[in-house]
Amino acid sequence: MDLHEYQGKELFRRYGIPVSEGRLATTPEEARAAAEDLGGQVVVKAQVLTGGRGKAGGVKLADGPDDAEQKARDILGLDIRGHVVRKLWIERASDIAKEYYLSITFDRGAKRPLFMLTTEGGVEIEQVAEENPDALARLHVDPLEGYQPYQARRLIYGARLADPNEQKQVLAIVEKLYRCFVESDAMLTEINPLIVTPEGEVKALDSKFTVDDSALFRHPDVAEMRDVEAADPLETFAREKGVTYVKLDGEVGILGNGAGLSMSTVDVVVVAGGRPANFCDLGGGGDAQGVVDALEVITRDPQVKSIFFNIFGGITRCDEVARGILAALDQMDISLPIVVRLDGTNAEEGRRILADAAPPNLHVEPTMLEAAERAVELAV
Ligand code: GDP
Ligand code: MN
Repeated sequence: MDLHEYQGKELFRRYGIPVSEGRLATTPEEARAAAEDLGGQVVVKAQVLTGGRGKAGGVKLADGPDDAEQKARDILGLDIRGHVVRKLWIERASDIAKEYYLSITFDRGAKRPLFMLTTEGGVEIEQVAEENPDALARLHVDPLEGYQPYQARRLIYGARLADPNEQKQVLAIVEKLYRCFVESDAMLTEINPLIVTPEGEVKALDSKFTVDDSALFRHPDVAEMRDVEAADPLETFAREKGVTYVKLDGEVGILGNGAGLSMSTVDVVVVAGGRPANFCDLGGGGDAQGVVDALEVITRDPQVKSIFFNIFGGITRCDEVARGILAALDQMDISLPIVVRLDGTNAEEGRRILADAAPPNLHVEPTMLEAAERAVELAV
């Protein structure tokens, strides 16, 4: 579960990580009241579960209550990458001398939490990793041994953080962030930017926080933070339709039967040089309505440029899926290219049914890899 910035900062605050004082607001009037309360310059920040709010116009400085009300009016209702702004976080504005970056994620390969620290904060961390990898200090923590101060020092020297006053504060924040990460059962805690003020104070200006869904029963206070309204609209739509669907950010829409095959389909699209737009599991069925529902969800994502149907018939019969696909195409107006791979029970019959009907945008391929390559090629 992803937390909003203000919720992540609340957890930071509990662990003693310095954050600015702020108030939540849902209307311009509340934003004005918050600014009056806080006094001085404030920053009005869209609370949506996506990054890049600053670039999208969702983070604005305001000089006082009047200005805060106006900025709130500008930001409320904005659509930031498909997320409509309904809540604002108004916090006391900070003066920024430097912007750093600090995070903890899981390195699944190493089976350990991974710290990343760089003095090149404020920009996207992927960009730093690509253009200036030496500036990004990385450090794994052995979960059994736990956090040790010498590790934090190694991290800090790795990031070439030279100022002793900053070193001391970052060291303390690293330690607190690790405790916060472990004790919250987090999957990700990211501070970007971690700022240094002109007075030399280090603090968290932003928070990105993901908690393991499976551990929420241990954290009723965190579980309560779930923002039902802010969930991805496509995933909400899918849930209403009873379709198992996870939105990803590529161009190849994916439909498989069974979670295992659907995950392999995601992998094979990547192997073929493409980017999956989603994970979608048709389940054991394959009847026309199931196919229609899934296609409705997948094609609602404007990023989808081609669709890859990957079906292995066990109990599911490929002829039935083929009829389902044709029925769905009859009911819906889909002009995107659809690549189908059918194998297993009644596969020949299924392929024949599709070949006989031969809708112009349908491409049947014999193997999973060939189908993936075709789908990637057509996703332009
Ligand atoms: P993001 O764009 O979603 O990552 O949102 P952030 O919370 O990181 O804010 C984006 C940018 O706005 C930051 O990198 C800062 O440059 C700027 N910003 C945010 N809060 C303040 C503040 O209190 N004072 C100043 N001067 N700039 C701020
Ligand atoms: Mn940020």
